[in-house]
Amino acid sequence: MSLDSRFKSPVRMPEAVWSILRAFPQRHLIASVLVAGAVVVMLVLPGGKEIEKRQVIESVELEFRRVDSAAPAAAPDVVVQSQPTLRWRSAKVKDGDNLSTMFVRAGVSAGEIYNLTASPGGDLLGNLYPGDQFRIGIDATDKVIQLEYIKSPLIRYIFAYEDGNYRTEKRTRKADVLLGFRQGIIRDSLYNSGKRAQLPDSIIMEMANIFGWDIDFVFDIREGDQFSLLFEERYLDGVQLGAGDIIAASFTNRGKTFRAVRYQNSDGSTQYYSPDGLSMRKTFLRTPLDIFRISSGFNLKRKHPIHKKIKAHRGVDYAAPRGTPVYAVGKGKVVKAGFHHANGNYIFIQHGQTYTTKYLHLHKKKVKVGQTVSQKMMIGTVGSTGYSTGPHLHYEFLVNGVHKNPRTVKLPQADPIPVNESERFERTTKPLLVKLAIYEQASQQALGSIEDAANVH
Ligand SMILES: [Zn+2]
Repeated sequence: MSLDSRFKSPVRMPEAVWSILRAFPQRHLIASVLVAGAVVVMLVLPGGKEIEKRQVIESVELEFRRVDSAAPAAAPDVVVQSQPTLRWRSAKVKDGDNLSTMFVRAGVSAGEIYNLTASPGGDLLGNLYPGDQFRIGIDATDKVIQLEYIKSPLIRYIFAYEDGNYRTEKRTRKADVLLGFRQGIIRDSLYNSGKRAQLPDSIIMEMANIFGWDIDFVFDIREGDQFSLLFEERYLDGVQLGAGDIIAASFTNRGKTFRAVRYQNSDGSTQYYSPDGLSMRKTFLRTPLDIFRISSGFNLKRKHPIHKKIKAHRGVDYAAPRGTPVYAVGKGKVVKAGFHHANGNYIFIQHGQTYTTKYLHLHKKKVKVGQTVSQKMMIGTVGSTGYSTGPHLHYEFLVNGVHKNPRTVKLPQADPIPVNESERFERTTKPLLVKLAIYEQASQQALGSIEDAANVH
């Protein structure tokens, strides 16, 4: 009995682990409890008891944190105890609020509101946003002795009443940045697979941006493709604030593995590079649309009827909702922008002497002939003008006047890391790539142990 047929419906494992397990379809998972180092993975047996505990990936991540959690301890929260008799109230800015309506709701008198706004830091109170929070410390005479304006978890302003006036102070805190590790396997769309691996949306988008130059996430992504990521997670007092940037990542597409690492140049700019120091960013975008806006082409479960036509008509068709932005794939000059009964609204862009790209059936054109365009500039929107059965972008890529398949054409080599940066690049990125590899391996080993134990019977 295959893993697939046996466990498909009753399994309640975290999806990312499940995804990885599916890569071993011949295994007979009879054993239930396995210990691999610090990693405990438990399964649900069909008709049996539920014994789910913890996800491999989570354990790996926790272990990682212990190693890396040398971030400076957060400053103690702001507490003023000089007025022990203060009564504290909270207030939150709602839509349509101004300072007065909010403070009046919190029981602050008009006179006090005036005193606060007239104080040296009063300007700060003139620019409130819905969601901003306040803590108001009031004494027995209803005088505001202390006001905390909580701009964000990391920034707050303190108004303290002293000697007949308010003294204002800005308090900032620094989030603890920890590195998280996640690994996953593509089962349907990149987005859904990323969510199953517990990636925040911003990280899924960033991953697509990093690898989107090399991998066509619309047509070439396959079930079984794998990814793993090291990325920043920001915490304050143990509470997660959100995700930062991807630090290092790998993506295996149809057996070919791409790796990327974030590097901050000496001039302060950051970019993603391959381990050998080539920029992940290429001269041309692989896809002239935001892949997350493409509906039919992106779902692996669906067939792509238009996919078959690629050879027949020398271009690629991307089905996408009408109005979806169409981007110039590279820097260039608009050489044609017009209407043709077959092409509909179309735009041709010349990139240097060698390359031309063509965009057909547009709903709207946003550029004119002669105009210079930059990479990823919006040049029009997806439509269904001309000979077209529904909203889609017909895209062509020509090299010296000859049509090439945009999905597979070899694109010009990216800029390498400058020679005078190469040593620094090596020194700072190697440990990150090693770390990624170690966690990838740990994760695979844990799964390997599951297999071994599963095969005991
Ligand atoms: Zn077409």
